[in-house]
Amino acid sequence: MTRVTARPAVLLVDDHPTNLLALEGVLEPLQVRTTQATSGEQALRCLLREDFAVIVLDAVMPGMDGFETARLIRQRARHRDTPIILISAYQKDESSIVRGYVEGAVDYLTKPFEPEVLRAKVTLFVGLFEKDRELKERAARLREEQAELLAREHAALLEAAVQRARLHGVFTQAPVAIALLQGPVHVYTYVNPLYLRLVGQGDILGKPAREAHPEIDGQHVFELMDHVFRTGEPVAGKAIPIHQGGRETAFFDFVYQPLRDGVGRVEGILVCASEVTTQMRARLKAEELSASLRSQHEALQKSEERFRSLMHAVSQIVWTTDAEGRVSADSPSWRAFTGQPREKYLDGRYGWLECIHPEDRGRTVRQWVEALRLRKVFEAEHRLRRHDGTYRTMSVRGVPVATEDGQVREWVGIHIDITEQRRSEESASFLARASAVLSSSLDYEATLAHVARLVVPTLADWCAVDLLTADGGLERVAAAHREPEMVARVYEVLRHFELDWNASRGLARVLRTGEPEWLPTVPESFFGAGARDEHQTRLLHELGLASYVCVPLLSRGRILGALTLVYARGREYDEWTLRLAEDLARRAASSVDNARLFREAKEAVQVRDEFLSIASHELKTPLTPLRLKLHSLRRSARVAGDGAMDSRALLAHLDAAERQVSRLSRLIDSLLDVSRIGAGKLELDWEDVDLVEVVREVVGRFEPQATKAGCRVTLSAPGPVVGRWDRLRLDQVVTNLLTNALKYGAGKPVELSVSTQAGHAVLLVRDQGIGIDPGNLSRIFERFERAVSQRHYGGLGLGLYITRTIVQALGGTIEARSTPGEGSTFSVSLPGVYAERALRTPAS
Ligand code: ADP
Repeated sequence: MTRVTARPAVLLVDDHPTNLLALEGVLEPLQVRTTQATSGEQALRCLLREDFAVIVLDAVMPGMDGFETARLIRQRARHRDTPIILISAYQKDESSIVRGYVEGAVDYLTKPFEPEVLRAKVTLFVGLFEKDRELKERAARLREEQAELLAREHAALLEAAVQRARLHGVFTQAPVAIALLQGPVHVYTYVNPLYLRLVGQGDILGKPAREAHPEIDGQHVFELMDHVFRTGEPVAGKAIPIHQGGRETAFFDFVYQPLRDGVGRVEGILVCASEVTTQMRARLKAEELSASLRSQHEALQKSEERFRSLMHAVSQIVWTTDAEGRVSADSPSWRAFTGQPREKYLDGRYGWLECIHPEDRGRTVRQWVEALRLRKVFEAEHRLRRHDGTYRTMSVRGVPVATEDGQVREWVGIHIDITEQRRSEESASFLARASAVLSSSLDYEATLAHVARLVVPTLADWCAVDLLTADGGLERVAAAHREPEMVARVYEVLRHFELDWNASRGLARVLRTGEPEWLPTVPESFFGAGARDEHQTRLLHELGLASYVCVPLLSRGRILGALTLVYARGREYDEWTLRLAEDLARRAASSVDNARLFREAKEAVQVRDEFLSIASHELKTPLTPLRLKLHSLRRSARVAGDGAMDSRALLAHLDAAERQVSRLSRLIDSLLDVSRIGAGKLELDWEDVDLVEVVREVVGRFEPQATKAGCRVTLSAPGPVVGRWDRLRLDQVVTNLLTNALKYGAGKPVELSVSTQAGHAVLLVRDQGIGIDPGNLSRIFERFERAVSQRHYGGLGLGLYITRTIVQALGGTIEARSTPGEGSTFSVSLPGVYAERALRTPAS
């Protein structure tokens, strides 16, 4: 509020207007407003209208004088404090001055007075008045402001109350649960009805949250409140599950909002919560439903995919015909499978029959016509030509589709490829039969012949089983042909077949590599390539060779032979037959191997038994003369009587006895050697040995035996032949060979020679005795093997076995050549000659 504040006025009272003028003149420089009154009454009237800063009052006036006027002014409460300056024209009169002051004047001036004095006083009072008025105004303003503030505060309080009431109303009617929690332990200070309903409890006001809801302890609710209170960060949760005692799990959306006091400190928490259990359940249900739908959908999709791949895998063909059995609609699956053009099978006749195997056509047509006639399900099995020309075994089923009145409207049929199924059935039953045959006997030649007959004609038009022989040859042990009179040719063709062991294909390659061979179609060039002559080419043409498989007979990692299956014409081998043939060959090989092992074991037992009887005979042989000699010795001693014996006779007896003992010990040494060799314990004592010297020594030692056998033994050697060998073992080799030469070549000369050849020492022992049958040449080096009868020649059959083992241990080889009746030559070749020349010089 603005106020217009007038200059304070000065009231001049004098009954003389001139005095009034003079006073005005005096005060003029002060620029104060003046009001003039010419009497006391007039002055009082002026005072009724206005307040004055000061009153300058003439003391002496007619009627009511200055003193009276002053007294009346003072009586008015309003003007009690208005300063009055009395002016008197008279000399200083003490009593009137006193009176003046008594009546309330503040000052008293007598004329003539100094204008300055009056001005100073008036100035002072005007200043005081102004100050006073200002104070008063300020006080009034203050009062006004106070009142205004009060009114405002009042209004604010009122507004706050209204707001609170409104908020309360809002809280109370809010569609969310609301609670106010105070302090660090979260004491409930307000809860709306919804909140109460939500927590299901009536008397939580004034309680700390933990005390109000002990049942939800441990579900992080209180910890969250603590967190909000501590950090002042609001927290919101969506669909949080809360387990309340025995009740079903409920889900809540909530907000914990910190509440702050005037200085921003967190003093409580506003909780707004709404239960979303129903929505949650609905959502979960929806999710569950959609998941189950999804999985159902996926399962459906999978099964559809499976179905499709199955359709694809089994190469199903679906077809339809009209009521009369004529193909009535296109069948893309038939077209795709057979490659037959649409117009061929949609010809209104039986164009589709073209794709059926000629052998199966008649039967198929009969069955189809029969089904049409009886209107019953058509079921058949036939071979169907696939687009690639191969025949597949199909199972067919056609069903009549009836109209409402029971008439056949059409036929719907399906072809399913059951080739693999049939084949595995066939394989299984074939292999079962073959296994039964193979395990029926240990006579493998007979069982192989039986198997060959099993193979023909299902798996081959003709077939052969060839086995490698011990001497590296090949023997056709079994053969079969669908025409029995041709079997002899199957044998014959091998005889005419020159096996080139390095051939890049065919039987030889299979026997060499152990890998199967499969030629679905044999080119014409094949006939000329491997054939020995025209005769063989003709034989092959007669037998027929359109397609073949040749699989090795493998057992324990060894190639025993091969099985060859041949389609003469019209058919082709596929991979399935190859696998089947391999399986069969494996079984046959193990049967052959088993039979051979059995045979060998039997023979080994036989050999052992023979050996035992020979060995006991051989060991006994020297014992008889020994016993005789000892007997004679005893008799000679007894005859002499005096104890003196003819020393010559004694020595002769002892010599003979010694010979028998050393023969015995040689036999035992041989046995020991054999057992050492068997145990792999033949040890060599490597040293520098002169072979010539060794041979010479042995020859020298054998002089008596040679003489006894009537053999002239000669040795030819160029000079020393030194190598790094084992002296005693070499001695043993020469001894064994010379023993045999004297034994089997008695009465004829025996020649020994030592020479060198390309760094090898070569020892030859040649006799002109009985010789050895060529068939026995390799056998005699085996253990216990002999080529003569025990009756004519004694022996253990171990000498050559030990000899060969020693020679091989020294890195050399031994072989025998012989012409029966003319003698034998054994030649030993030893590597490692290094001092032949060096030593020859001093020797020669
Ligand atoms: P053993 O002579 O004790 O029978 P060997 O192992 O020394 O045994 O010889 C094996 C077989 O070889 C003999 O039984 C004999 O049939 C044959 N043999 C060995 N050497 C000769 C030879 N020089 N002449 C003829 N046959 C021989």
